[in-house]
Amino acid sequence: MTAEQAAAEELRQRIASQFGRSLHIRTLDTGSCAACEQEIRLLTAPHYDLHRLGFFFTPAPRHADLLLVTGPMIRAFDVAARKTFDAMPGPKIVVATGACALGGVYPADAFVHGSVGEILPVDVWVPGCPPSPLALLQGLLVAVDRLAEKAASLTFVADSLTGEVPG
Ligand code: SF4
Repeated sequence: MTAEQAAAEELRQRIASQFGRSLHIRTLDTGSCAACEQEIRLLTAPHYDLHRLGFFFTPAPRHADLLLVTGPMIRAFDVAARKTFDAMPGPKIVVATGACALGGVYPADAFVHGSVGEILPVDVWVPGCPPSPLALLQGLLVAVDRLAEKAASLTFVADSLTGEVPG
């Protein structure tokens, strides 16, 4: 089994056991050159076939568990980025992808923040310019664990009608 296949199988098992077999991703481009998006798109090609692992992409923040962010966070985009994050239900997780998002390409100036972390609470950083699909898979693997930790720390209250406690 290759490293990619091993990482993929581990992801599939964790999503199946911890998230009811599906986890939804909202991508957010904050000013990238589009090469990071090409690598993310490759994950859905037959070779990686991200959907078989339980990951699905959604355009709706309200349906998303994970925000996958690329680019150096241009200032014109920070309100939209915050609104997207705020619209996601909790528990939620932010994965910053690529050297731009990590703050390693553009210094802050009048037009750009220089790092996604300046605006969003990043949980997982995936380096690379662009990151390879395997690096993205490994980042998602870490993110699934962090998300499970967040979900486990939630306190649920009983339904006032049935008395049942979700979770
Ligand atoms: S990290 Fe590299 S590939 Fe990704 S958006 Fe920045 S310059 Fe482009």
